[in-house]
Amino acid sequence: MTEKISILAHTEESFIHAIAERLGKGRVHASLIYQEFFRSGSLNAAHPAFNNAQEIRTAILENVSVSQLSLGDRKEDGKTGKFLGKTADGLEVEFVQIPMQSGGTLCISSQVGCQMGCAFCETGKMGLLRNLTTEEIVSQVYLAKHHNQFSFRNLVFMGMGEPLDNFDAVMQAVRIFNDPKGFGFGRRRMTISTSGCVDGIDKLANLGGQAPNLAVSINAPTDELRNRLMPVNRKYDLQTLYEAMQGYCTKTGRQILIAYVLLQGQNDQIEHALQLSEYLKGLNVKINLIPYNPQSRDRFQAPDLNTIEAFTQSLRQKGYYTLLRLTKGQDIMAACGQLGNLKLRKQIFENQKNALITFPTNSH
Ligand code: SF4
Repeated sequence: MTEKISILAHTEESFIHAIAERLGKGRVHASLIYQEFFRSGSLNAAHPAFNNAQEIRTAILENVSVSQLSLGDRKEDGKTGKFLGKTADGLEVEFVQIPMQSGGTLCISSQVGCQMGCAFCETGKMGLLRNLTTEEIVSQVYLAKHHNQFSFRNLVFMGMGEPLDNFDAVMQAVRIFNDPKGFGFGRRRMTISTSGCVDGIDKLANLGGQAPNLAVSINAPTDELRNRLMPVNRKYDLQTLYEAMQGYCTKTGRQILIAYVLLQGQNDQIEHALQLSEYLKGLNVKINLIPYNPQSRDRFQAPDLNTIEAFTQSLRQKGYYTLLRLTKGQDIMAACGQLGNLKLRKQIFENQKNALITFPTNSH
């Protein structure tokens, strides 16, 4: 049987092309179906243009599928909602809806688990199970918009996974989000957050004005400390990362959001703030400070408020625009870099015990 064309994996242009190639006709109606689908959320949306064209409409729809995640559990913390999406092979990914006065933010996942192994991260403890496909990434936005009726202005790849470790699928999703005939999201309203994958940052930089926004998790101002907290640093050290960020700022003309998770007794002293301000000198950045969100029996803790305040002031005195994010969604483990499905983790650990799943080792 011929495989159906997955509408969530296509831009309007590539969808039209795929239909025309399959049927030898139908370009105009394929375009209409695409637009109506992304506007209304339904493949069966009525449109006057189909009144006298039922045959071609049926032929197109017979060749199209909406292969999406099924919506699983929902957890609410005040206004923030964390949702589980289930893949066809039974894995779960999480996306988070964060209503804000300035318009909501949707935080989506790019992988099931993550192989980057950041020491403080719940998702990192899962290891990488697999990359999400383009349609599984796009499906999170589809579900938030059309199923949950969540209205959002900003889209951030800050959920499970390292987006630049799944570059091709993520960038195809970005093109679909950006398509004016589809979701119509401006590239400046999309942010890709990375732990510091320099080859991916270089590729984004080469997109120039077409690049989405970039957030980089620094979390440590010296190689010695960053090697311990973020194994990616052993592959791309701080100097290499600096040069990549400089390239991104120059080629795109954009500012980078620097994320820094504050961990008590690890990276939270004024000395660290001063080292960070030295490191970032010459880059067009703003800084987002995120006090750690501890889990039970966690080896990391959040600093006390005085320490957080002193760290923040040190950066501000050095002239950095610094936001202090007292995390929304803290109670549901939806704070940045800390998504991670406990139920799934337990399952993985069980499976690992039974040698059914081999964990990928961290590559850094
Ligand atoms: S912080 Fe991000 S890159 Fe690091 S392990 Fe967690 S999900 Fe992966």
